Amino acid sequence: MIEDKNQSRTSLDQLGEFGLIDHLTQNFEINQKSTIKGIGDDAAVLDFKSKQIVVTTDLLVENVHFDLSYVPLKHLGYKAVVVNLSDVYAMNASATQITVSIAVSNRFPLEALEELYAGIETAAKVYNVDVVGGDTTSSTTGLIISVTAIGELEPEDIVYRSGAKQNDLIVVTGDIGAAYMGLQILEREKEVFKVNPQNQPDLDPYTYIIERQLRPEARKDIVELLKKMEVKPTSMIDISDGLSSEIMHICKQSDVGAEIYENKIPLDPQVISTCEEFKIDSTTIALNGGEDYELLMTISQEDFPKIKGNPNLTVIGYITEKARGMHLITRGEQAVPIIAKGWNAMKNEV
Ligand SMILES: [Mg+2]
Repeated sequence: MIEDKNQSRTSLDQLGEFGLIDHLTQNFEINQKSTIKGIGDDAAVLDFKSKQIVVTTDLLVENVHFDLSYVPLKHLGYKAVVVNLSDVYAMNASATQITVSIAVSNRFPLEALEELYAGIETAAKVYNVDVVGGDTTSSTTGLIISVTAIGELEPEDIVYRSGAKQNDLIVVTGDIGAAYMGLQILEREKEVFKVNPQNQPDLDPYTYIIERQLRPEARKDIVELLKKMEVKPTSMIDISDGLSSEIMHICKQSDVGAEIYENKIPLDPQVISTCEEFKIDSTTIALNGGEDYELLMTISQEDFPKIKGNPNLTVIGYITEKARGMHLITRGEQAVPIIAKGWNAMKNEV
């Protein structure tokens, strides 16, 4: 499906490790005031003055977390950064620096890594984070990428998963379920391609959901919006594994229960139509599909007038006392217990 149009192949052995790092990071800019020293010494030096620091890290492994038969390397580099920044924003922090480490086998030429780093560089620019370090090493099989993200915030702004209170509103950003359905389309086309490589798939009806899978965005804008609206969520988490498992994290750590209304869950029309095509229930996908990188938060009812009508924020339910458990209220007004399946478990079912 994704053709390798780049025919030139420079073997990694020609550069050596230090030459490779220099080459891949030569265009990276330093823009953050807190970066005193980036790449080029034994360690980066950062100065955050009186701010608190959040640090998060993620490891992506080829054929476990991504499939290079349909994921362009540029998109992979972009996504590897975005998924980490999403965790920084979920703490209500602003992201400032990242480090990127890769292990790569010699089946990848230099040109492939240049593509990967072009995606990393684009994400660093879009989200205004400095790439301040990293490592490259060889791997015997596939590609492994590890990104660490660093962010800063005033101590009073930090939002944990544990602060949700009874009667708080449950709010989700954007729409959910699209990344998972995008993955279903890509997997299906991969199978078609295996049988008939000449087949040119018509992906037009699926552009949004494919984009959500291949090139997700992290909700930096929401952290800024909340600040502007003077709304501090009582709890927050990013949606990487699916709405149901994320709400369970919040409920467990806040010692509360929750009710979510099926008819309030924001779905894109492409998610609905693709679910119909695959004959799967769109609510199941919204609850258990992952990788949307939207934010799930709880806010005090007092803050409702401030967020009311904002197209980025949808109230989908409210927090209850713990004893009431966690339920989805269906369109038929039935209360169904919420259980976390997570998108990995679902992979085997759909
Ligand atoms: Mg997270």
